[in-house]
Amino acid sequence: MKTLACKDIDPSVACDYKAMGSTDEEILQNMATHAKEVHADKVTGMTDEQMAEMMRPHIKDEEAAM
Ligand SMILES: [Zn+2]
Repeated sequence: MKTLACKDIDPSVACDYKAMGSTDEEILQNMATHAKEVHADKVTGMTDEQMAEMMRPHIKDEEAAM
């Protein structure tokens, strides 16, 4: 399981949203949708590719805690 939290991308945002998925692509798409809805001010003018570039380094691998 991979996760990507808003706070990991930008520690200044007061948002607890965390995207989860099994692949980077799934997470990036998930987070891009969230960012456009909730953080439109931060992603205005960015292409999906630019967003992915910004977000990808912050994706974390988490062992599934079962
Ligand atoms: Zn957020």
